[in-house]
Amino acid sequence: MSGTGARRIRVRVEGLVQGVGFRPFVCGLAGAYGVSGFVGNDPGGVFIEAEGEPATLDAFTAGLTGQAPPLALVERVSVEPAEPVGESGFRIVASRQGEFPDGALVSPDAGTCAACLSELRDPGDRRHRYPFANCTDCGPRFTIVTGVPYDRCATTMADFEMCAGCAREYGDPGDRRFHAQPVCCPACGPALRALGADGRPAAGDPVEVAARWLEAGRIVAIKGLGGYHLAVLAADGPAVAALRARKRRESRPFAVLAPDAAAAGTLVHLDPAAELLLTGARRPIVLAPRRRDAPVADLVAPGARDLGVMLPYTPLHHLLADRLAVPYVLTSGNLTDEPIAYRDEEALRRLAGLADGFLVHDRRIEAPADDSLVRVFRGRELVVRRSRGYAPAPIGVPWPFPRPVLACGAQLKNTFCVARGNQAFLSQHIGDLESYETLRSFAEGVEHFCRIFGVRPAVVAHDLHPEYLSTAYARDREGVDLIGVQHHHAHIASCLAEHGHGGPVIGVAFDGLGLGVDGTLWGGELLVADLVSFRRAGHLEAVPMPGGAAAVRQPWRMAAAWLDRIHGDALPGLPVAERHREQWPVVVRMARAGLNSPLTSSAGRLFDAVAAIAGVRDVIGHEGQAAAELEARVDPGERGAYPARLIEGEPLVIAAGDLVGAAAEDAAAGVDAGRIAARFHRGLAAAVVRAVRVLGEETGLRTVALSGGVFQNAVLLEAVLSGLERERFTVLVHSRVPPGDGGIALGQAVVAAANDRR
Ligand SMILES: [Zn+2]
Ligand SMILES: [Zn+2]
Repeated sequence: MSGTGARRIRVRVEGLVQGVGFRPFVCGLAGAYGVSGFVGNDPGGVFIEAEGEPATLDAFTAGLTGQAPPLALVERVSVEPAEPVGESGFRIVASRQGEFPDGALVSPDAGTCAACLSELRDPGDRRHRYPFANCTDCGPRFTIVTGVPYDRCATTMADFEMCAGCAREYGDPGDRRFHAQPVCCPACGPALRALGADGRPAAGDPVEVAARWLEAGRIVAIKGLGGYHLAVLAADGPAVAALRARKRRESRPFAVLAPDAAAAGTLVHLDPAAELLLTGARRPIVLAPRRRDAPVADLVAPGARDLGVMLPYTPLHHLLADRLAVPYVLTSGNLTDEPIAYRDEEALRRLAGLADGFLVHDRRIEAPADDSLVRVFRGRELVVRRSRGYAPAPIGVPWPFPRPVLACGAQLKNTFCVARGNQAFLSQHIGDLESYETLRSFAEGVEHFCRIFGVRPAVVAHDLHPEYLSTAYARDREGVDLIGVQHHHAHIASCLAEHGHGGPVIGVAFDGLGLGVDGTLWGGELLVADLVSFRRAGHLEAVPMPGGAAAVRQPWRMAAAWLDRIHGDALPGLPVAERHREQWPVVVRMARAGLNSPLTSSAGRLFDAVAAIAGVRDVIGHEGQAAAELEARVDPGERGAYPARLIEGEPLVIAAGDLVGAAAEDAAAGVDAGRIAARFHRGLAAAVVRAVRVLGEETGLRTVALSGGVFQNAVLLEAVLSGLERERFTVLVHSRVPPGDGGIALGQAVVAAANDRR
């Protein structure tokens, strides 16, 4: 190999290069170019030494990026010269431990690949019907990783010793399982079991047993990649109703797993972009318009226009789907508001009253991960919940973090973020930090991320709200610099970070509630912002929230507060006031007196008021429900829009009461909910566009960032976006990072870094 003219180089490859078959790929590449040397993992990524003719070394180095395996994400390749040693052959060497400034990356879990799936279905294959088959291109990753570097001994597969057959595949550079850390087979790997409600093993093939239970209308807990799910047949009305009841009257829509893309197409209308997301390796739940004749029970997603569908993403889910041949509901195994159960003993205990049977296995889950949730907006992915398959892939930012940062996120839909170098690692979905279990899950998650990414936070960012448990957690950390970041500033910064844009921009942050710097609850904000700071340049008109948290649960209270503000009372004959005529005067008095009635400029609460007025929803079961149902009711044929005044001043105020008043007049006149919903969405969007135009003229800024959970509303997003485009603004919208509070930790991290840099 090392004839005359041979050179030797030392190469470092950084990025998502562990657990994705990168070392075998390098071996293959070296073989193809006749390069000798070795490759290995270390905490910083992959190290290579390669020797060969200069031209082949160049081609080899270019191939590291250009021909990388499907799950890899090469961020940087650095090359330095070394002394030729004249070795022959190319080999994988042992992983090196030690500290690296820019640690390695852990890959997200990936759905079963086509090659593994065909083995699963091949009666002649030794992995025929084996529920844990995987290879270098697919299988569990993040959820089984216990440490770095990514090697079998640093995963929960360390519990299983490879048999001779698996060891041969693992050691054969020509095999597609070469150095696949979770490699296993029926002889040596994890095993499946079916357990009855009493925890006793059920006789027979576990998949067959579970399928029969489901066909008999039972609720089955299934241990998946990132935790336990509860399953019922999607068309089985009584079973779906029982599932809702046992999950303590869960009101959120359930997701449905379809056997394949064709079956998913009978449930929802899939455009090419949605189908691509559905069938891709990340395997999220894809929200798409439900077909009228979709074979699912009404209670799967009551009041929703869209249905969340997904395809099987582990061999186990494939086996069950193949056997059932009909869609099944797959919802996270927990009580409402608790985190997903993932530790075996705890899951069996917590789910004991919920499930009639269990389909379990003995591969431990190290990190929990809920299913991710995405929708398509203008042909692009819009991530709503970023979890399994996505986390913990890094989000690269153009501004290096001067010191390692931990950002603790918000209270609801919490995620946190650790960041170092040019990379931010947004955690999987943790949930609402309102129970001991969720808080524990948060704290354990932070420790896990710090461990696997080698981050020791020096700066800790948190929300300004003192009662958020994430804020309390931040303030408990010792020996760090704390930086408080205003909620809506963090939203806009998360959008800027996603686009690598440093601002300043006009930011429109519309969401439920976040504490403002003036002590009131914000949520309909127009900020002139960069990463360092912001100015509140405008907002929705503020109203009292009668009863505080009670007004969040009971949208009709927001209607009462608004109508009292506008008319001094409700319009005669207004249905929402009739429905609540006993409590209405009490709530109005409360609002007037300011008794437990904090002022809010929240867009979410404005949607609540209109939803109640339109007769769509008076009381909610989960956050954002009224707004989502109002969006679902929008009549696409309606061209009208409610007018709203702009009240000039510093800050500029959008007279949201005008929209509420117009909706109330329509409702009193018997106009249907679909038209009220459409006129409201269109009117609000038009008012936002006019307000941005005014701020654009005032500041000279031509770029707008849209963020906050309200911009998950595709109708509002489309209306605001197209309006701003007509005004020739450049508009930044979310795609890979959730617009809601699940994305806020990223914004906190970059704001903290920008202030740390100063
Ligand atoms: Zn595979
Ligand atoms: Zn084996």
